[in-house]
Amino acid sequence: MTDRSDSRRYERIGILGGTLDPVHFGHLRSAEEVREQLGLDQILLVPAARPPHKLSGSITPFFHRFRMAELAVDGVPGFSVSDMEGQRPGPSYSIDTLVRLRQLYQGAQLFFIIGADAFLDLGSWKSYEQIPSQARLVVVSRPGISMEQMINRVEGLFPDARQVAGLEGGMPQFETGRGGKILFVHVTLLDISSTNIRQRSRSGLSVRFLLPEKVLEYMTENQIYVRRKTGSEDGRRSGEDLLDSESLARRIYREVVDNKGEKVVVLDMRGISPVADFFIIAQGRSTKQVQGMASRMKRDLSREHIRCQGIEGESEGSWILMDFDDVVVHLFYEPVRGFFDLEGLWYEVPRMPWGYDDKAGKGPEQES
Ligand code: ATP
Ligand code: MG
Repeated sequence: MTDRSDSRRYERIGILGGTLDPVHFGHLRSAEEVREQLGLDQILLVPAARPPHKLSGSITPFFHRFRMAELAVDGVPGFSVSDMEGQRPGPSYSIDTLVRLRQLYQGAQLFFIIGADAFLDLGSWKSYEQIPSQARLVVVSRPGISMEQMINRVEGLFPDARQVAGLEGGMPQFETGRGGKILFVHVTLLDISSTNIRQRSRSGLSVRFLLPEKVLEYMTENQIYVRRKTGSEDGRRSGEDLLDSESLARRIYREVVDNKGEKVVVLDMRGISPVADFFIIAQGRSTKQVQGMASRMKRDLSREHIRCQGIEGESEGSWILMDFDDVVVHLFYEPVRGFFDLEGLWYEVPRMPWGYDDKAGKGPEQES
């Protein structure tokens, strides 16, 4: 479904933009609660074609993300999906989308819904100060970010904003100098992110009940967040003809250890999983350390033409997945490692003797 021409019937429209790679219940439930609390008539999901913040990363093609959003709200009254950002060339700036939507839905009141994390980052968005005057800016809660943090951020972003009488239930509202409105809405906190769904899916973990079943089916049919190694099937790895997968695993293992990765388990997935030949799982003592480890590894290994083909979770640092084709590295912030327990999932898989022996709980055999 694309933008509707019978816009006049709808008076209060909520807009939820984002990469939606993929859309999940965190998005949908937040939008639903905003719809209910603010009495909106409809919600429009607007997947970003070329998100300015994510240009460097590898994102799923727009048509897949769009289709998944459509499937997520298929048959749900009051929810639809717009492909307008797909129609527009260049980076998908929210301000441009809002201006366009104002033209399309003349007479309607627009509510632009973003999560607390996006709000903290709003200062880096194009013409962000104009956003609350184009549409009421609705900021929904997201786990890990307090109301206090958000209110402080209002002052930083909109120095001329003043607090006005809030909604029933006492959530604060602000009016900006340009007459824009910012509303905070508390929603059920669902600690779900697309990053985590991609990581789970690429690691062979279940993502069921984190997103609608139809989206999951589509992901599976189209093999969207699975990785299939491109390397050893035809004996070549992209780029150089350098190392066989075991030597590559050894080299990367060294790199993890040199960067203070702890309890570095190396799973031999050869013949077991189509995902990769080796999984390397390690931990760091803080999210910062994990982030530092990943960026140094990327840099050092690329000097040897060992390229990281994809990376997930860099911005949070609690679980970073690095894809080196035949070898996939999982770097965890220590407390998070046990939660996902990849070793438990792959309990039957042989461990390489030169890695940490997690079953015996002891360090590696001496390497010559
Ligand atoms: P990624 O991990 O790839 O960044 P994401 O889960 O954050 O994905 P986005 O597509 O980046 O999803 O988010 C679109 C919008 O939805 C953003 O404004 C974001 O803050 C909000 N959002 C995403 N997940 C949630 C959630 N679980 N609860 C509330 N808001 C959310
Ligand atoms: Mg996000």
